[in-house]
Amino acid sequence: MADPGKAPRAPEGPFTFHRFALGDIEATIVSDGPIPLGPPEDTFIDRPAAELRGNMRGLGLPDDNVVIQQNALVLDTGTDLLLFETGMNSMKVTPDMGKLPANLRAAGFDPADVTAIIATHPHIDHIGGIVADDGSLNFPNARIYVGEDDLDYWSRDERIGQPGEHSLHAVRKNLLPNRDRVHFHKPGKEVVPGVEAMLTAGHTIGHTSFVVSSGGATLFVVGDLLHHQLIVHEPRMDDFYDTDRKLGIETRIRVMEMLASQRMLSLCYHLDWPGLGYFSKRGAGFHFEPVAV
Ligand SMILES: [Zn+2]
Repeated sequence: MADPGKAPRAPEGPFTFHRFALGDIEATIVSDGPIPLGPPEDTFIDRPAAELRGNMRGLGLPDDNVVIQQNALVLDTGTDLLLFETGMNSMKVTPDMGKLPANLRAAGFDPADVTAIIATHPHIDHIGGIVADDGSLNFPNARIYVGEDDLDYWSRDERIGQPGEHSLHAVRKNLLPNRDRVHFHKPGKEVVPGVEAMLTAGHTIGHTSFVVSSGGATLFVVGDLLHHQLIVHEPRMDDFYDTDRKLGIETRIRVMEMLASQRMLSLCYHLDWPGLGYFSKRGAGFHFEPVAV
């Protein structure tokens, strides 16, 4: 793990937006706010609490609460205004989350101008901001892209009493009433020109990452293959939130190896704001080097 003397503690926010050029595309990362997950042993369930808490302290972090960010991505392609992930607006459980619509406006966007929402998977913190508390659409002119198998899985009564039951409720509030707007992204196919879907199953059965290409620049939209620096460094841990934990580990390692070997710019929804950086191999795991902002 990191040397505590060298590990800078991440700024705590609140965060609004970060804009950068991606080839010919104007890209903006917009915050929906943080999610506190509680003690690390509640998320990384196959390791002793003392070991995990020591590793948290080694990162310069409080050891009793894993706090993850929600780094949504907006791409202005000239023909589409794409929004990757929508946060917790309709399902928020703390006043610090659900900030995406307000922060989009702070970044100069009108949510009505979003033409397409692209979700890596239909967990609560990714599709929970499609609508507001009252069920009205936050992005009234957007089509919605999600995985077909995932939507089926997270719509079923069998999710009741399972990890992630809250995502069933989020799907029923955000996606099912808007079924006429829903389209399915398909592995290996473009969602819109320049945005190709890649199946990265494990976290959910249809979890999908995206490769964005423009003018010679490339960005990999990682989604939830990893929730925290702890599991970047030790990717073989079981993550409570993964539907298939064994496949989650295999996919996490496979994708980080690809991103490290290609040195591809990557956006991680839940890593420290704004979640933009490069993976490299380090020891038995990986290291995420943030892009300076
Ligand atoms: Zn998530």
